[in-house]
Parts: sequence; structure tokens; C-alpha cells
Amino acid sequence: MTASSPAALALHGGAGARKGRDYARAEAHLFDLVKRGEALLTDGAAAVDVVEALVAEMEASGFYIAGRGAAPNKAGYAELDASIMASGNAGLKRSAGAVAAVKHLKSPIRAARAVMDETPHVMLAGRGAENFCRGRNFDFVDDPERYYVTPIGIDPKELTQAEMGHGTVGAVALDARGRLAAATSTGGVFGKLEGRVGDTPLIGSGTWADEFVAASCTGVGEFFILAGGAQDVASRMRYQGAALGRASEGLIEDVGRLGGDGGVIAVSREGEIAFAWNSDGMKRAGFGPNQAPFSATFSS
Ligand code: ASP
Repeated sequence: MTASSPAALALHGGAGARKGRDYARAEAHLFDLVKRGEALLTDGAAAVDVVEALVAEMEASGFYIAGRGAAPNKAGYAELDASIMASGNAGLKRSAGAVAAVKHLKSPIRAARAVMDETPHVMLAGRGAENFCRGRNFDFVDDPERYYVTPIGIDPKELTQAEMGHGTVGAVALDARGRLAAATSTGGVFGKLEGRVGDTPLIGSGTWADEFVAASCTGVGEFFILAGGAQDVASRMRYQGAALGRASEGLIEDVGRLGGDGGVIAVSREGEIAFAWNSDGMKRAGFGPNQAPFSATFSS
């Protein structure tokens, strides 16, 4: 790949959308982000910087069950997870970072990026992750009661368990130098046990980016872990020769067979983007060489 690679980007805001709800504000927000991502990538920004920045925006928005919109666990407080992965465009060059079960960090994805860039490790969990971020200019939540909000646009009384369970955010991108990256951040599933960690911070389950494809998942994390998750999309392409769209659908079919629901977004090194889900809808957006920027929630 050379400097003339086509750039491409896909975003998701969770696959917990339910028919009959109005997701216009989240869709407008995602459209705005995809336009911003397009401008950055066209300008030569690195895929890893773009996915981190856009996921951080989604975390801060309060529109999704991630970052500010995170749902509480059974003990009544938010525990957040995030991960990020990037590949080079030649040779075998991959890097990844993740944080799990953090309570006080406003932007888990920024913490995941710091784990990737500044430690020899891939994941830090709980208090250790937060201690690592202290003194590093990270924003902490001082007053959780006031900081966390119910995702905007939905009356809290009407929010179903399923919707609270699938509001993870994610981004995958291909940059003009042929590098791929993926980032995913979540508040997890509603009513989860204290300390429960799902697929989102697990590299290979919630997030994957290699030399061929980048993918980010959303849905009931336990099933994505059992199905092999984001890395399964890459394996289907690499070992089975599956096309990006078919590989994404294959993962979601397996998740469904296991009894779970959710979705995945993916981008290939050729600049194709794919979206697959088996729930009512998935808040999503994207652009690519053959796809003008768009956002949507349900099938058209
Ligand atoms: N996958 C996330 C988890 O299980 C939830 C979601 O995608 O909404 O923690």
C-alpha cells in the first residue's frame, strides 16, 4: 500500500436499537463524526488517531451506553471497558491497548491508547489502570451521580434492558497510508455483576486490526467471546477467502446460533466497509471510496 490508498471509516453506536424509537439525534451525531473522520483521513491523519478521537467524542456525548452514558452494574455504579488496536501497512506490525473495569476515567479509550503507547502491556484493569492514568493528565469522574446520564433521546423510564445492554461505541478506519485501526468502548451490559468484563476490552473479541481488516463488535459480550469475536472476521477472510461482508455476517450468524445478538462493523485494506447485525437495528455510519458519508439505524 502506498500513500494513495483509499481512506474508509465505519462507526457504530451499539446494536440495541429497538423498532419504534427515534434515533435521529444519535444518527445526526454519527453523521457529523463520520464527516469529521473523513476530513481527518483525507488530510492524512493516522487511522489509529482517528478511531481514538471519534470514540472519545462518542464517550463524552452521553448518547450511547459508553463513557458518560454508561449503565450501572448490579451494585449501582458504572464500570467501563475499552480497547484499541492498530496495524502497520507492511510487514507484521501490530499494537494494542485496553483497560477493563475502570470506575473513574472519563475516557477509557484514551486510557487504552496510553496503555498501548506507553507500556509493554496490552491490558490494565481496575485500580491499576486508574493509577497508571493518574498524573498523566487524564480526566477523572469526581461526582458520578452528576456525571453519568441516561442516553439522550430516550426517556429513562422507557429504556428496556436490551437497549441498556447494547450501546457500546466503536470505530474502524483505513488511512491513506494503508494502515488499519479499530477502537471500542463500553459501559458494559445493564445489571452486570461487579467486576464483569465483556468482549469490548478483549483484543480479538471486541476489537481487532491486522494487515487485512479492522473490526469492532457490539452486543451481548459473552456470546461474542464464545464466537471468537472481531478476530473471527479476520480469520474467515484470511483462511477461508471470505469477502468482508460475508465474513462479518458469518460471525453474527455464529453469535445468533449461540443464542446472542449484536453486530459488527469492519473495514478492509481495500477500503470496503461492512455492517452486520441480528438485532432490530444498529446505530451506524460510514464512508469509503464507493460510499458517500451516511448514518442509519435500521435496514432501509
Ligand atoms: N459488548 C458489550 C459488553 O458485553 C455491550 C454492548 O456492546 O453494548 O460489555
